[in-house]
Amino acid sequence: FSPPVSPLVSGLNPEQAAAVTLPAEHALILAGAGSGKTRVLTTRIAWLLQTGQVGPGGVMAVTFTNKAAREMTTRLSAMLPVNVRGMWIGTFHGLCNRLLRAHHQAAALPATFQILDTQDQLSAIKRLCKQHNVDDERFPPKELQWFIAGAKEEGLRARDVPARDEETRRKVELYALYDEQCQREGVVDFGELMLRSYELLRDNDALREHYQRRFRHVLIDEFQDTNKLQYAWLKLFAPPPLEGLGTGTGAVFAVGDDDQSIYAFRGARVGNMADFVREYRVRHQIKLEQNYRSVSNILDAANHLIGHNQRRLGKNLRTDAGAGEPVRVNEAVSDFAEAQWLVEEIKALVREEVPRSEIAVLYRSNAQSRVVETALFNAGLPYRVYGGLRFFERAEIKHALAYLRLIENPRDDTSFLRVVNFPPRGIGARSIEQLQDVARAAGCSLHDAVSAVTGRAGVAIGGFVAKMDVMRERSEGASLKDIIELVLEHSGLIEHYRQEREGQERVENLEELVNAAESFVMQEGFGRDAAALTQSPASQGLDPNAPPLAVPIADPAPDADTGETLSPLAAFLSHAALESGDNQAHAGQDAVQLMTVHAAKGLEFDCVFITGLEEGLFPHENAMSDRDGLEEERRLMYVAITRARKRLYLSHSQTRLLHGQTRYNLKSRFFDELPEHCLKWLTPPQAQGWGGMGSAGWGGHRAMGARSEPQPAWSPGWKAASAPAPEPDRGTAIKAGMAVFHNKFGEGKVLAVEGAGDDARAQVSFNRHGTKWLALSVAKLTPIE
Ligand code: ATP
Ligand code: MG
Repeated sequence: FSPPVSPLVSGLNPEQAAAVTLPAEHALILAGAGSGKTRVLTTRIAWLLQTGQVGPGGVMAVTFTNKAAREMTTRLSAMLPVNVRGMWIGTFHGLCNRLLRAHHQAAALPATFQILDTQDQLSAIKRLCKQHNVDDERFPPKELQWFIAGAKEEGLRARDVPARDEETRRKVELYALYDEQCQREGVVDFGELMLRSYELLRDNDALREHYQRRFRHVLIDEFQDTNKLQYAWLKLFAPPPLEGLGTGTGAVFAVGDDDQSIYAFRGARVGNMADFVREYRVRHQIKLEQNYRSVSNILDAANHLIGHNQRRLGKNLRTDAGAGEPVRVNEAVSDFAEAQWLVEEIKALVREEVPRSEIAVLYRSNAQSRVVETALFNAGLPYRVYGGLRFFERAEIKHALAYLRLIENPRDDTSFLRVVNFPPRGIGARSIEQLQDVARAAGCSLHDAVSAVTGRAGVAIGGFVAKMDVMRERSEGASLKDIIELVLEHSGLIEHYRQEREGQERVENLEELVNAAESFVMQEGFGRDAAALTQSPASQGLDPNAPPLAVPIADPAPDADTGETLSPLAAFLSHAALESGDNQAHAGQDAVQLMTVHAAKGLEFDCVFITGLEEGLFPHENAMSDRDGLEEERRLMYVAITRARKRLYLSHSQTRLLHGQTRYNLKSRFFDELPEHCLKWLTPPQAQGWGGMGSAGWGGHRAMGARSEPQPAWSPGWKAASAPAPEPDRGTAIKAGMAVFHNKFGEGKVLAVEGAGDDARAQVSFNRHGTKWLALSVAKLTPIE
């Protein structure tokens, strides 16, 4: 006699099946990427429900991202008919929110409590400091924010923080005052969500016992990335044997992969895995070694790469899938060229009937997404950005755009309200109300009502209006780039975010806005010959390979009523509005997936592009100085590679316009850590060096970026678009020292030639038009005898 095998388990390998059907005891599943950890966890829930060991209300499952939680519920409802909506499946923050909403009275919160994001939190702290006359030189608000968030992550209230010196005492005092203010206003920050729900269960015996009785099974995915408080929080729901707070009958089922621990910078403790095994006396530890996700070329690349890390628990992964396509490597001249290449490859994949949602573009930091977004948008390819707002929807960008809109139209009340006190300039809610009253009574805009507001309120708001007037005046006749830079500086936006603890990324995004404007101007052809540039094409962000836009995004044609031409600023603002509006319409569509590597954790796609593989970017410059940082970057790269099922593309660019600067980048060291037999270089070797270039930056690139092992013979890519045949003639016909003639600029002398084929360009000193870089594939240069 053998018991009937549940169809849920029949498709699993023996280790997976064993994990799914473990008795209701604590267990750790430690296994590499794509080995089915999440599938095992989900199947275990289904199996527990199906075998009647527990009802839907008795299960709690914690995932890392909202997307992962959604996927888990979808998979679960496909496995068996169960109302997943009522089940406790979600992220830590999501479940904390749920708990606090359910017991808001016990947690001493109003039913309608609001959640502060990190930005709101900082403004709250600033307001507090002002009110208490805190010297912000001695106690910068962002430092206080860091102090408070750090304490909360450690599970410490103000009274619990050891105050050894005067300074800490003051910070602790402010921490207490901040908590009081939040309490008064009915708001909680992210750290508070976690800490408040932790305390709720810790201090409320009846409630804790209720949940401990209720959740017979607590399952947690991505366990390697839990921090101290999260682990402590879990322990309250299912306490380990012999630990004060309950006898603990709920079984904890933790799955994780130490090689995918990528949140150490936020306090994640891989050590929680070892603590868990010890504290819970875990008897069931299961390893899964079969990878079901990726073809072996991709898996080999991942295994080889992570083998360079020293601190590992050590696991093996194998696959029965065939070798599959090789991993394709592309080198681009510029980030624009990279994005263009990406678009061509994606189009080809779509032609091969790969669903767009099975194509993911991954990058190390959010600021990289803009160039990709623009290229996809221009190509008419629907896309969706995860783990971050779309570029033009980001708060800091919207603030900047609000200033720009006010320059165009002072009567734009929405923009007025958005920035009248942002960055904070001491204009209180009362003053704004007063202004709104006056405007309402007079039936005019806020801007026009300002002169009617008296007293201190009038002075403060008048100051803001005067500031706007200065910006408007100075923008007259200025280029779009200059206007934006002026606004970023003069409004105080850049300075404001520089002061913020987590403001670096916002500063970078604002600098990206300048880049966005520049390339917009270039594409729209506002007063410029697209083939002729005053500096090198890359530093101007122009891709010499890019085909001209078929349809302009915003129409710079003369206005029908006035005959006036739309200013670059007005055109850019409508571009920003249209682009974000248009994309909303694509929300439900089959769309290319864009996200950071962090946001891609746990997900999988048929085709994955990892872009920007350059030293300083990936591995990130902040993490390159020590071994721990570098190992974390390598784990991140391991996560990125292992997202791909069938096709993986890696790309790097020689130059990148990032944070308002052109960077000349070496290709990532990770390329040297991948096995050559898995790779296929799409770029002809001759384009990888930069022959004939004198500048030190380029020379350095060549010396350090050149691969030491022999280059594989370049073979044409499997699609023409990805590997244009080299055209040596065009680049070499024009040589340094030659006298040339250009239709528009007349006669000149060639100073230098760089690149090859379609990338070839020449620096020409024209007799009447100064020195320019010209893309030889676009500009017609005729040698003069
Ligand atoms: P990661 O570490 O990236 O989170 P994971 O270990 O959680 O990966 P899953 O996402 O659960 O892996 O599984 C990877 C892929 O392999 C999924 O598409 C899953 O459906 C598939 N898979 C897992 N186990 C099997 C199996 N026994 N037979 C067929 N496919 C499987
Ligand atoms: Mg997983």
